[in-house]
Amino acid sequence: MDKIRHQFLVKLINEPGPSGFEDNVQNIYRNEVKPYCDEITTDSNGNVVATLNPGKDFSIMISGHADEIGLIVNYIDENGFIYVKSIGGIDPSILGSKRARILTGSGIIEGIFGQKSLHLEEGYKRKIPKMSEVYIDVGAKNKKDIEKLISVGDPIIFGENYRDLMNGYASARCFDNRIGVFIITEVLKTLKNRKLNITVHAVSTVQEETGIFGAGIIAYRLKPTMGIAIDAMPATDSPGISKTEFGDIKLNNGPVIRRGVKTSNRIAEKLIEVAKSKKIKYQIDIDTGNFGTDSDAISKVRSGVPVGGLEVPTRYLHSSEELLSLNDLDNCIKLLSEAILSIDKNKNFLDRI
Ligand SMILES: [Zn+2]
Repeated sequence: MDKIRHQFLVKLINEPGPSGFEDNVQNIYRNEVKPYCDEITTDSNGNVVATLNPGKDFSIMISGHADEIGLIVNYIDENGFIYVKSIGGIDPSILGSKRARILTGSGIIEGIFGQKSLHLEEGYKRKIPKMSEVYIDVGAKNKKDIEKLISVGDPIIFGENYRDLMNGYASARCFDNRIGVFIITEVLKTLKNRKLNITVHAVSTVQEETGIFGAGIIAYRLKPTMGIAIDAMPATDSPGISKTEFGDIKLNNGPVIRRGVKTSNRIAEKLIEVAKSKKIKYQIDIDTGNFGTDSDAISKVRSGVPVGGLEVPTRYLHSSEELLSLNDLDNCIKLLSEAILSIDKNKNFLDRI
């Protein structure tokens, strides 16, 4: 990955943005895409649409969700310990001893998710906590000490910022799905000076992790001819994962193209054809009627929108440290850009019969 692209990735990843609190991420997106699109629009929910080549009969909506999973302050006890509820799918057993950042009106307050020292657990064995037992310790003397700083309803992120690992691998807390926003941004940059037949709406969506909300409402407004959602998906190449159950998805083996029930076969075929002709590595995963990504919401609006899924294999999804390959990101950008450039507006390749 080149240096400028890498710098933008790090900036996007390091910005906190749990579902419902995506504004800072959206501002980074908006500023970055400004020189590479013709129009930028938003809505009252915080979706940001960057449109290139507006007004054509054929339009594609590419989307990545800006939000990440997180938590929210639910209760502060008399001793100043902060109890939480989750925003999105979080396993409470992974939180103990991790870094917590509370996003308050007066800035970020650092803390940790407390857990009993193992010495104090009976038989040196730890029980798996319920979410209602998870608490954050910010070093407060008592409730009074922090009640002016931290309020019920303040969002929280957990886990670490971006780090480069060996061999072009990287780890961070929120590749799911800041990389979707990253990829659509880089696709716009790639397309800017190329000859385009169609309109491209690159949408940084909100509130995917809490029920796939933002993509549908914005697709309703945009009325795209087709949609492709970019997201992280679980790789199956780390220990203890059954390939017979979850398939064979490896890091550094290219982006993942979905095929299956809800996926438009025409879109899947197009992506595969382009990957082959441009010699871009790719992998296949299936959908059996749902993606679990923004594609689901886009597919359902109005009288239905043909959708595809393009995903980046990622280990340890929804944990404090997700892990992926930068090559897969570069290949995903290349594949999506080339696929968009190959669409001929006069031949509706989406027709099934
Ligand atoms: Zn996601």
